[in-house]
Amino acid sequence: MDCIFCKIVNGELPSAKIYEDDHQVAFLDAFPATAGHALLVPKKHIVNIFDCDEELGRIIYPTLIKLSKAIRHAMGCTGLNIVQNNEAVAGQVVFHSHIHLIPRYDYDGIKIAVASKAQATPEVLAPIADKIMRAL
Ligand code: 5GP
Ligand code: ZN
Repeated sequence: MDCIFCKIVNGELPSAKIYEDDHQVAFLDAFPATAGHALLVPKKHIVNIFDCDEELGRIIYPTLIKLSKAIRHAMGCTGLNIVQNNEAVAGQVVFHSHIHLIPRYDYDGIKIAVASKAQATPEVLAPIADKIMRAL
């Protein structure tokens, strides 16, 4: 399969690896937003969160916690953004699932913002919440 992250997982392409086990690998982003920007990638080729089963989720999250703490300790960052882009409309460019860990430093000039608009009323929120709950 012509997938950059499968090739990194298989060792066909080089990467600056920071973690690996049977299910997942983490390596530094080749175009880092900040120093220490890392990607946590399942070894199995899945496209994004919509392909992810709960068992894999249970494996990934503890690693995310471990890596976050290690990155903060190693890099001395003040904070950290965890971001996953799912589908092109959300900014996904590499279609092998991955989670960004982006260390944040005081005055780093990076802006990762959810574009909030006007405050929604309870009348607007309630039917949306209901619709999503019924889809679970
Ligand atoms: P996306 O926009 O899909 O969430 O992010 C893909 C990320 O993969 C980008 O931050 C990009 O810099 C990174 N990336 C793309 N190609 C490579 C590569 O060959 N090696 C590494 N280490 N990172 C890559
Ligand atoms: Zn892949």
